[in-house]
Amino acid sequence: MYDNLLANVPTDLWIGGKWRKASDNARFDVIDPATEKKIASVASATVDDAKAAVDAASDAFEAWGAKKPRERGEILRKAYELTMRDAERLAKLITLENGKALSDSRGEVAYAAEFFRWNAEEAVRNLGQVSRAPSSGARILVQHKPAGIAVLVTPWNFPAAMATRKIAPALAAGCTVVLKPASDTPLTMLALMPILEEAGVPAGVVNVIPSRSSGKVVSAMLHDPRVRVVSFTGSTEVGRKLLREAADNVVKPAMELGGNAPFLVFEDADIDAAIDGAMIAKMRNMGEACTAANRFYVHEKVHDEFAKKLTAKMNALKMGNGLDDGVALGPLVNAEGRDKVMSLVDDAVKKGAKVLTGGKVPDGPGFFYPATVLTNVPDSAAMLNDEIFGPVAAIQSFKSEDEAIKRANDTEYGLVAYLYTKDMNRGMRVSEKLDFGMIGLNRGLVSDPAAPFGGMKQSGIGREGGHEGMMEFLETQYVSLNW
Ligand code: NAP
Repeated sequence: MYDNLLANVPTDLWIGGKWRKASDNARFDVIDPATEKKIASVASATVDDAKAAVDAASDAFEAWGAKKPRERGEILRKAYELTMRDAERLAKLITLENGKALSDSRGEVAYAAEFFRWNAEEAVRNLGQVSRAPSSGARILVQHKPAGIAVLVTPWNFPAAMATRKIAPALAAGCTVVLKPASDTPLTMLALMPILEEAGVPAGVVNVIPSRSSGKVVSAMLHDPRVRVVSFTGSTEVGRKLLREAADNVVKPAMELGGNAPFLVFEDADIDAAIDGAMIAKMRNMGEACTAANRFYVHEKVHDEFAKKLTAKMNALKMGNGLDDGVALGPLVNAEGRDKVMSLVDDAVKKGAKVLTGGKVPDGPGFFYPATVLTNVPDSAAMLNDEIFGPVAAIQSFKSEDEAIKRANDTEYGLVAYLYTKDMNRGMRVSEKLDFGMIGLNRGLVSDPAAPFGGMKQSGIGREGGHEGMMEFLETQYVSLNW
């Protein structure tokens, strides 16, 4: 089954339009989380390889930045079409290295490809402005230039989409990039490189360097004066480190970090709609998403009905190898992720939470954790402060709107919040009081390439997607002039 899938997947470093071994020949293993078997051995970039990748990005920069926006846009449009042509193969590869159910992987590939299409359209809308200085009367001309070489660092939970969400706007803006994918899931991006080459992306414009020495390799690139942007998606902890490193050369940061999403259900909500939304917000990607609903706050009048219906839906999910038919719940990405979920559930149960379903690790192989619903979760439970990153719904009840808002905002994170109510006055009133970059109002899914994705507080800096996405890769230049 694997051999077919893996037959043509490259496993070396993609630098300057060529496949290369690591300079010290080091490699690392990629594991199928459903079977715990090795599926590939991938070259592990060294600091020298990272320098070679920045050299390649630097050599390609001038010509790529000088290309007409329409030409860049057409290459991105072609990348969209070719990614969709190869969607099924890419989806299976994502499931193989990440574990998620094939239906989730198919959704991810379509989402990933959309970033190429959206940014193909954005490439030709790099708008400036002309105005008159109020006092001097001189002209103020504002234009945007490609910011330079961008270092992109991506996580394992969406191996395709988190990368294309950066590559596509960077290329639209005229930047060249070096991408370091997560070590758990490097194959998807390596598999995308021949597709980008076929689409017409010139050598050196996109370079991909998996590495087991992430810290050293990324640090070396951030200290190379040619690098002007770092765009990172991952944990807040690593984001803080990279912000410190970026400070040395004042590299422009874009940070998509952790979340701790509240999901509010008011007493006037359509409960069935809220359950459907909850299943998406919680279970997309087995809960391994920064946007995953982490804390359910349900009005006391509808709490029991919500918990019962959610439990029934969670029970109906088939768990198994993500490549198998009908499976909705694959394994978590690795043993560490599974053990973290297990310890958060054990901690909550020890402190008094009630298990309505799930809560027990099944026999191996595979890093499986079952769909789990907990009620009576005490405020002291660690899972209310920490991202669960697994298929566990923690439900608490509330009495008043003010209480719900206060508890929802009681977190250092501010990525996304969800709320369900039929009263749109309340919906907008509460939305405005929630300190989150994105709100799902009667919706369990907010991600959209055409919308600005990103967080407030310690969930990040900057936005991806929408019109804002390309701006992260542009510098604003103002020319003061008379004519
Ligand atoms: P992570 O441990 O922070 O890793 C993310 C990336 O950073 C990986 O490529 C990793 O490489 C690399 N990395 C790790 N340590 C590094 C260091 N010292 N210097 C430079 N790079 C380093 O996060 P993760 O566990 O992969 O992903 C889960 C996190 O991502 C969650 O917190 C989730 O909320 C967040 N996330 C946020 C968004 C968003 O848009 N806000 C979207 C998706 C995920 P290795 O794999 O080699 O360690």
